[in-house]
Amino acid sequence: MALIKICKFCGCSFTPHSSVPGQEYCSHSACQNARKEIWRKQKLANDQDYRDNKKKSQKKWRNKNKDYWRNYRKKNTEYTYKNRIQQRYRNKKRVSDIAKSDELKELGKPIPGYYRLVPLCKKIAKSDELIVRLMPAYENPANAFT
Ligand SMILES: [Zn+2]
Repeated sequence: MALIKICKFCGCSFTPHSSVPGQEYCSHSACQNARKEIWRKQKLANDQDYRDNKKKSQKKWRNKNKDYWRNYRKKNTEYTYKNRIQQRYRNKKRVSDIAKSDELKELGKPIPGYYRLVPLCKKIAKSDELIVRLMPAYENPANAFT
C-alpha cells in the first residue's frame, strides 16, 4: 500500500515519489513554485555565499543589459506611472514608520470630515482598484460639488 501525504501548500493528498525522501509538496506547479520560493527565501536568509553570488550575478546582468529597465519603463508607461505612485507611498510610509511618536504628532493626523475621492488616472487602474487623492470636500465651499 502506497504512502499518502498531505501537501503543505494546497492541502491535497498525494503519493510521494519513491526517489524523493521527505517530500512535503505535491507535484502541482503552484505547489512546486511555493516550495521553491520558500527554499529561496530560507537560502537568502541563511546563506551568505548564496546572497553574494546572487548579488554578483545581478550586477553582471545589469552591466550586460544597461538599458533594460530604461526601455522597459518606456514601453510600459502605465506600469511605470503606477509604480512611481506606489513608491512615493512606500517612501512616505517608511518615513512615518521610522519617525518618533512625538514627531508623528507634528505631521498631523487626518482631520475627520468629508472627503471626495478624486480619481488621478482611470486608465492605469485595474477594474478593482482606483487610485485617488483625498481632498477636503469643503476646503473651498464654492467648489464642494464640482
Ligand atoms: Zn499541492
